[in-house]
Amino acid sequence: MKQLWAPWRLEYIQSADEQEGCVFCRAQELGDEEGLVVHRGQRAFVVLNKYPYASGHLMVAPARHVGALGELEEDEALEIHRLAATAVDLLTSSMGAQGFNLGWNLGRIAGAGVVDHVHQHLVPRWAGDTNFMPVLADVKVMPEALEATRRKLAEAWP
Ligand SMILES: [Zn+2]
Repeated sequence: MKQLWAPWRLEYIQSADEQEGCVFCRAQELGDEEGLVVHRGQRAFVVLNKYPYASGHLMVAPARHVGALGELEEDEALEIHRLAATAVDLLTSSMGAQGFNLGWNLGRIAGAGVVDHVHQHLVPRWAGDTNFMPVLADVKVMPEALEATRRKLAEAWP
């Protein structure tokens, strides 16, 4: 059986503990480029994952710092859904993604690197991509790749 949904990398889970504050709240305070923010909605936003499993791996989170899925308000939940749907369309049209894994990692045991600000992962898939490690092997190229991806998606956002 192939593993389709890999949780956060252990390295990231460890580094998340060392960071001060919440990465999702901090991303919103930074500029789009520095924060890797693709799109800011009314009550939710789209941000690239700094430790992606695939090119275009992004996350949709409420603007509000909220740690329980059930505490999302109606318009937050709806906007997260709409933003994810738009991201699926964009990753399909601009990057040729052939499929997607969308998921919420709730709790550290489920692989959540950030446990107190809920967020939905969106990982684009391509045929033959079951091993993401080549993508991650050279971490030095990632910052440039991330910014290029962020700009591409941000500019294409309707
Ligand atoms: Zn937060």
